[in-house]
Amino acid sequence: MATQPAYPIIDHVYDTVVVGAGGSGLRATMGSAEAGLKTACITKVFPTRSHTVAAQGGIAASLCNNTPDHWTWHMYDTVKGSDWLGDQDAIEYMVREAPQAVYELEHAGVPFSRNPNGTIYQRPFGGHMQNMGEGPPVQRTCAAADRTGHAMLHALYQQSLKYDADFFIEYFAIDLIMENGVCRGVIALCLDDGSIHRFRAHAVVLATGGYGRTYYTCTSAHTCTGDGGGMVLRAGLPMQDMEFVQFHPTGIYGAGVLITEGARGEGGYLTNSEGERFMERYAPSAKDLASRDVVSRSMAMEMREGRGVGPHKDYIYLHLDHIDPKVLAERLPGITESGKIFAGVDLTRQPLPVCPTVHYNMGGIPTNYHGEVINPTADNPDATVPGLFAVGEAACVSVHGANRLGSNSLIDLVVFGRAAGHRLKELIKPDMKHDELPKDSADLALSRLDHFRHANGGSPTAQVRVEMQRTMQTHAAVFRTDELMAEGKVKLADTYQRMQDVHVTDRGLIWNSDLVETLELDNLIGQASVTLHGAHARKESRGAHAHEDFPNRDDANWMKHTLSWFDGWGGKGGAVTLDYRPVHEYTMTDDVAYIKPKARVY
Ligand SMILES: Cc1cc2nc3c(=O)[nH]c(=O)nc-3n(C[C@H](O)[C@H](O)[C@H](O)COP(=O)(O)OP(=O)(O)OC[C@H]3O[C@@H](n4cnc5c(N)ncnc54)[C@H](O)[C@@H]3O)c2cc1C
Repeated sequence: MATQPAYPIIDHVYDTVVVGAGGSGLRATMGSAEAGLKTACITKVFPTRSHTVAAQGGIAASLCNNTPDHWTWHMYDTVKGSDWLGDQDAIEYMVREAPQAVYELEHAGVPFSRNPNGTIYQRPFGGHMQNMGEGPPVQRTCAAADRTGHAMLHALYQQSLKYDADFFIEYFAIDLIMENGVCRGVIALCLDDGSIHRFRAHAVVLATGGYGRTYYTCTSAHTCTGDGGGMVLRAGLPMQDMEFVQFHPTGIYGAGVLITEGARGEGGYLTNSEGERFMERYAPSAKDLASRDVVSRSMAMEMREGRGVGPHKDYIYLHLDHIDPKVLAERLPGITESGKIFAGVDLTRQPLPVCPTVHYNMGGIPTNYHGEVINPTADNPDATVPGLFAVGEAACVSVHGANRLGSNSLIDLVVFGRAAGHRLKELIKPDMKHDELPKDSADLALSRLDHFRHANGGSPTAQVRVEMQRTMQTHAAVFRTDELMAEGKVKLADTYQRMQDVHVTDRGLIWNSDLVETLELDNLIGQASVTLHGAHARKESRGAHAHEDFPNRDDANWMKHTLSWFDGWGGKGGAVTLDYRPVHEYTMTDDVAYIKPKARVY
């Protein structure tokens, strides 16, 4: 490692440092502060601008307000949705805690839509059924019109101000401080004045969100660059199940802007160029409300077989024009507006052109259901990393397995954000002594910062980024083949080489977005690489991973989590190492039996 470049460092000491102020980060911050721990929350964007603000459709919990429901039904649907890659102990924990978590949000001030009797309104969502999957669809998704994430994030931020936590807003976390396998803190750059901050802590909670921006078209914000995952890979720790990337069926054609599944929950349906409601053929029972991977694949099949709409037959129509305009105005006002702005379509009269768009990362930093990060050892596949936690989309608990059900992410954020708070309270006492940091604690972060700040090669960041994004879009798409993925790996390795020749124009440290985007790209490209390598190695089809050469699920050989390490840092060719760890084939309590794998039909 190069010697530390001369950057003055401002030191801070906290019990807990949370990186990220989306739904999961804010909930973890509140939990930590409530436990009496000295807590800091670092965020690169203002808290209420985190991607959680964009969530539309809602948050799942078996409240039974609009239809009968039970937590065991929610559990069954989540396990089936995960295509049996989810850990059932963690799933049991999430669905059981869900109703309480929603009431907590209600009391925190989230203005949920209401039923006439005053209870929280719940809508149907894909893959959520009654009677242990037998159907009919259940109304389980609690919504604040189609702006649920907006309502939730604002309520959480307002609540978090009540607690004694310090917010470091518009600070960019660069790297973890690791010592002998223990996380000791994190180094961050203040974007506003370019100062460097070293946070020493008993625990760091990564709540940095997903890495959707590895793809060219996605529904997630430009800030979704998987920075936490990048830090973990650089620390020599593995990521888990990264090959499972969710394509949402209804991104607006061209723009990629999301149209919530709530649109189909409220009665919307898809048609092909022949005007046929084709989902009846692919999912006779759930139809347009089948799981996301199933609907996205069905749409891709229709387009591939020449029944896509438009001159290039590359989109599908989503119809909402049969729904009472009053219902649209009340329950789906946001997407009615998006249709107008991004497609020039009046949803009350015309169908909307849509196509499957990258939306969510099932994979992430492996954790247990307390939010503790896992780094398996030879004799313990569940060994944890002292001092390191991950929550939210950055984490892989794993409750979503190979495919996440709609509205199960928002509930994951608050349930596991809170669980991390409980665990921190157990592990850390407010008067615990802080050991001195090692002398080289800032070297990794500062040498990378300095390297990219002065990068003077021939490849501008934006060019390298678009090359990576196009490769992922083509070679790790809805349908995958051995040949396509093998080609993709070669292309990505080339792109990674170009990263060594990157060019940053701005040499300053004050609001240097060129530099920050380069650090983000460095985080993205490691994760793109492990995604594609993990996908190429998995010789089966499961959930969102649809492998055309291996169209069936293969439980005997592949019901296991992929672990991936990126060894390519510093010009070592972007090499990836893979290994596997067992799926938890047990539940948390005896209140519910392990749900055995079976064929996944909707
Ligand atoms: C358009 C859209 C609609 C969705 N709708 C729904 C829905 O209806 N229901 C549902 O269940 N799910 C939905 N999802 C998924 C869900 O919203 C996300 O998975 C979830 O909000 C992620 O929350 P998070 O707390 O993990 O991270 P985010 O909300 O993405 O926040 C990440 C935080 O980390 C911070 N951060 C990141 N990197 C750094 C760094 N280097 N330094 C400092 N800070 C950093 C950011 O500033 C930010 O505060 C939707 C997603 C999208 C994109």
